[in-house]
Amino acid sequence: MTRPFEIGSVIAALKSVIGPTQGPVALHEPSLDGNEIRYATECISSGWVSSVGSFVDEFERRLSAITGAKRAVAVVNGTAALHVALLLAGVRPGDEVLVPALTFVATANAVAYCGAVPHLVDSDAATLGLDPRKLDAYLKEHTTSRGGARVNSSTNRRIAAVVPMHTFGHPVDLDALAEVCARFEIPMVEDAAEALGSRIRGRHVGTWGRLSIISFNGNKIVTTGGGGAILTNDEALGRRAKHLTTTARRPHPWLYEHDEIGYNYRMPNLNAALGCAQLEKLDSFVERKRALAAGYQHAFADMEGIRVFREPDFATSNYWLNALLLDPENAVHRDGILRAAHQEGVLARPAWTLLHRLAIYADCPRMDLSCAEDLQRRLINVPSSAALSRTKLVATS
Ligand SMILES: *Cc1c(COP(=O)(O)O)cnc(C)c1O
Repeated sequence: MTRPFEIGSVIAALKSVIGPTQGPVALHEPSLDGNEIRYATECISSGWVSSVGSFVDEFERRLSAITGAKRAVAVVNGTAALHVALLLAGVRPGDEVLVPALTFVATANAVAYCGAVPHLVDSDAATLGLDPRKLDAYLKEHTTSRGGARVNSSTNRRIAAVVPMHTFGHPVDLDALAEVCARFEIPMVEDAAEALGSRIRGRHVGTWGRLSIISFNGNKIVTTGGGGAILTNDEALGRRAKHLTTTARRPHPWLYEHDEIGYNYRMPNLNAALGCAQLEKLDSFVERKRALAAGYQHAFADMEGIRVFREPDFATSNYWLNALLLDPENAVHRDGILRAAHQEGVLARPAWTLLHRLAIYADCPRMDLSCAEDLQRRLINVPSSAALSRTKLVATS
């Protein structure tokens, strides 16, 4: 038995998963019911709330243990993490960096901070992230190898990095992308901002790229209030990341000596205290978010013309944000659904405006973006807080 597509039924299905609530339901809210207050109090009592303190070291150690990355460097936010990761990957002014058109604006902004040009590439409907086959064909046709560098044949600019992004926490096909990047000798830097807790065959994302980044913004699966981290398996790059994000100060008991122009990007100890408490809950967050995703899958299973995005076969996703995908013929109803959902207090959202549709990036070089365009027209993100899975009883009734 199937149910016909109808805006009213879509809203009813969403509400059946979310359950009874007081007030509007946000797209994503943090859960702060662990040791957050205890550690923050400990941090404040110690007096070490700022640039020095044990919580930062502990947070980095725990991140490294969770992800399997040899080194994690905590910084002020995910955008700053990506800025420094790109610099350390060798991105220089005048270079081009391949980024998906379907991403949060920060991915491209970090490229621009390096004085480089974002070069927009298409997504794959199976992962919502960078399409390795399309990338491969594009690099073959539009780039050449020149003096040990990969160069865009039409702009003559060096392609300095590829930045895959794990959309809504769902892993991209990293094995395939790493193979393409290796073949064309372009460093890969993963924007894993949304993907803490996501794995591919047991291995945590953020460990394929030469460097990777995670965000701990208030709306991500784990938050430090605001924060980010750089991950790498290369010890030397890890040391460089720490140095560059701490004003490049040379270690000395009292002297202020700085051997390059560094950044004041270090995560404050107070934020790291919050982060230590949050990381203790990561497994339960992932479990609850996966249960919520299963609830959405169930609620829409028999509805025609719409489905809930499901993680690719090779991956175990953290399901940071759930996404409804309208069939192409129902894309015209996207805004109707968003309007009706908001009227009912369900704060659903469309995907980000594609980067080439923003005036600031309209002139960037780009490949055919038909898949990203198509996804953007018919995708709707729905409330995905871990706390909502407490109501999953309603979803499966
Ligand atoms: C959140 C996010 C970032 C940036 O993280 P901030 O901590 O907000 O600076 C970068 N890329 C993507 C894909 C994100 O979702």
